[in-house]
Order: sequence, then structure tokens, then C-alpha cells
Amino acid sequence: MNSENRKYHSRSKPSKKRTSFQDRTVPEKRTDLQDRRASKKRTDLQDRKASKKRADLQDRKALKKQELTQKKTQPALPGSCPAAGKCGGCDLQGVPYEKQLERKDRQLNQLLAGLAEKRYPILGMKDPTHYRCKVNAAFGLDRKGKPILGRYEKNSHHIVRMESCMIEDEKANEIAAGIYSLLSSFRIRVYDEDSDSGFLRHVQIRRGFATDQYMVTLVCTDPVFPSKQNFVKALRSRFPEISTVILNINDRHTSMVLGERNIVLYGKGYIEDRLCRCTFRISPGSFYQVNPAQTQRLYETAIRYANLSGDETVLDAYCGTGTIGIIAAGHAKQVTGVELNQDAVRDAVWNARRNKTENIRFVNMDATDYMEKLSAGRIDGAHPDVLILDPPRSGTTPRFIEAAAHLGPEKIIYVSCSPDTLARDLKLFRKKGYHASKAQGVDLFPFTNHVETIALLSKEQG
Ligand code: SAH
Repeated sequence: MNSENRKYHSRSKPSKKRTSFQDRTVPEKRTDLQDRRASKKRTDLQDRKASKKRADLQDRKALKKQELTQKKTQPALPGSCPAAGKCGGCDLQGVPYEKQLERKDRQLNQLLAGLAEKRYPILGMKDPTHYRCKVNAAFGLDRKGKPILGRYEKNSHHIVRMESCMIEDEKANEIAAGIYSLLSSFRIRVYDEDSDSGFLRHVQIRRGFATDQYMVTLVCTDPVFPSKQNFVKALRSRFPEISTVILNINDRHTSMVLGERNIVLYGKGYIEDRLCRCTFRISPGSFYQVNPAQTQRLYETAIRYANLSGDETVLDAYCGTGTIGIIAAGHAKQVTGVELNQDAVRDAVWNARRNKTENIRFVNMDATDYMEKLSAGRIDGAHPDVLILDPPRSGTTPRFIEAAAHLGPEKIIYVSCSPDTLARDLKLFRKKGYHASKAQGVDLFPFTNHVETIALLSKEQG
């Protein structure tokens, strides 16, 4: 499993709801199978062409509208994006940032009323634009067979034409557009989903926010890329900040952006970023928060809530690539990170070594199983003084909460990316004797509905 399916609904990740090319192929059982298939193929093709024509027309209209709007309202204001409501990126286009923050605070206040004693105002960004340090751009063909560059439309495989996006890193947008402009001179054919032919499907660009290193992953259908060295040279001469280029092979009919195989074309095959004075590796498939500036504030809040003296044993459940645990290790006696995803654990071990952090270990296991086994004495390990959990949107499990209460940490720090499941879990924690003294939102995803929250729970006295 790579980073795309971990925690957040990535704007550029084709949604799970989307109908994949394969899904559209209905199995046939009858004897006139071939006839029906041929005629179905024809009708499917006609349908797809018609829908593509409609969508292209809508795109052109939207672009025209944007040009007109921009002429009237230079510089472009948030809300004037032609892809608003279409690309699946920003749900809150056109909503002033202050209002977005108020809306998120209201939501948290409603959900956490009676569950978290003090609720502090959400930490917003000074400049809420261009914060995404991970950009997935898609290539395809328009009706006339001309290559297009864009982002996926919400809940579909249709590509919305766009070269830049107000929440994505600007340089990453320029790099994607630069790749697009090199296509014809290098005779690179873009992938066409309808005919399942072509070479270049996507480009993923990731930026190490503090290091300003850029990683370009070209997602292609074939490992054979004849002019690769010259292509990389041309790209790097325009964008010297690119420190690594990777060819990722994805030849399957899939809604996942990345395939499993990576071939390094230039550089080390990964970039690094720094958060809270620690260095973390970002490789094409690894999970790393897309808004590092705000992530740093989130992690700082977690460390502040934990109020570590250096003597504590800390458990970092759902630890991903070990970020929070490694930062906490600098303030604690011993840390254990628990994570289900094997690749993430591998990255976490690498990150710990990179930071010369020796008082941390990682366990590749389901977090609930780990908690139950630890509390039943079926695996070795000290009981934690501080428990940090950062589960996916589905939240944690009643069994996890039961075992956590049995282990009895002094403090629990709950980092959540879904206020609904946070509220649900806080109720269960309360039943087990833990109450949240404070909670605060951190706006990791301006212009979207996503709300990240951090809550501090302590053992009720008596
Ligand atoms: N704390 C990390 C990662 C949070 S994302 C960070 O800040 O970067 C949530 C993580 O939970 C993902 O890495 C996901 O792989 C992991 N996960 C999901 N289900 C899990 C489970 N049942 N047990 C352990 N880890 C799980």
C-alpha cells in the first residue's frame, strides 16, 4: 500500500468511488457474447466520446469564463478557479479564509461540546494558498487527440484541464507544465484511457518544504523510455531544483496513481524534509503530510500537550513513517511506534537512523492487536506513560480504547483527521475514565472541508 490510500483523501487521487476502466466492463454470460461485446464496445466508445465532447466543451467554457473573470478581477482571487467544484480539490472555493476557519471551529465546537472541556480556536495559515507540497497531475487526450494536462474531476476519470492550482505548490505546477511543454519534442505519447494506449499517465511532484528539494515521478505504462537521459537533462536545465527523477511503472487499469515499480532516472530516488529539527525521507510511495508548515504546528502542539520530562515511555500508535514518535523521542526515555503498513515501517526505521534516534523501535502490527497483547502481557514492552494515537479517518476501535484504558497511561494525545470519529472515540474514552481537557483544530487543508484536530486526554481522578 502506498501513501495514496492512507489517511487523507488526496485531491489528485482518483476517488475510490470512481468507476475504473475495469469496473465498466460488465461480465457477459450469453452465447452471443462476442456480438454483444463488439456492439457494446461501439456504444461504450460512442458514449465515452459523447461524454468527453461534453466535458471538453464545459472545460473550454470554464476556461473562457476564467479569462473573463480574471480580466475583471486581476489578480485572480481565491474562488475564481475554473475547476472549482469539478476537480475534487477545493470544496471551499470562494469562501473567504476567515469564514472557512469559523466554519471549522463551529463544526468542532458542535461535535466536541461536552466532550472536550476547553476548545481553542483553530490554527490557521497566514497565507492559505499553494500549501500542497505534493501534486499529482494527470495527462490525457482531448477530443481531437491533443495531449492535455490537468487534474481529475471529482468522482470520475475525466481530466479537468488546468496548469496551475491555488492550493498546490507553485514551482510544482511550473514543473508539471514544463513536462507538458517537452512532450512533443521528445515524442512522448500521453496515455489514453479509452484506447488503453500511450506512455505517460501522470506526474507526481513532491517538495521537501524546508529543504526545497523537488522529486519528480513520471508515471508511465512502460519501463522502456528511450530518450530518458536527454529528457531529464532538458527538465533539469529548466528546473535545477529537481533533485531526483523517478520512472514509476503503472500498466494496470487502476484508480491508483502509482504502480509498484520505481526506476531511478536521476538522483537518490527520494528527497528529504525537516520538521521540528528532525529530517524525514520522502520517497514516491511514502506517506508524508502534504502541508508541512502546518504539520510542524500540529506536531509541536502534540509535544506541548505531552509535556515530556525525559523519563517517560511513549507509545506512538498509527505512527506512519515515525514522524511524531521520532520527534517525541528527543524528549522521552523510550518510544515505540506501531504501524500496520510494512513500507511505512521500513521508512520509519530509516528515519530513526537518519536522525540518530536510538530510543525508538517500531512494531509492524495492527494497533488494536498490539494494545490488546501488550495489556494482556502477551508481548514484551513497558506500559506507556503517554499514548499518542493518529488513526486514519475511520478512527480507532472500541477494543483499542478498552486496552488503552487497561494500560492506564497518564496522558493520551489523540491526533484526528475526522472530527466525527474523534467525537465518537472521545465518548468511549470518557466511559473508560479518560476525559479531554483541551482540543484544538489545526488547519492542514485550507479550501477543503477536512479538519485536523488534536486533543489531550487525562485519567480522571478517583
Ligand atoms: N502519525 C503519522 C501517520 C498518520 S496516518 C503521521 O503523522 O505522519 C495513519 C496511519 O495509520 C497510516 O500510516 C496507516 O497506514 C496506519 N494504519 C491504518 N490502520 C492501521 C491499523 N489498524 N493499525 C496500525 N496502523 C494503521
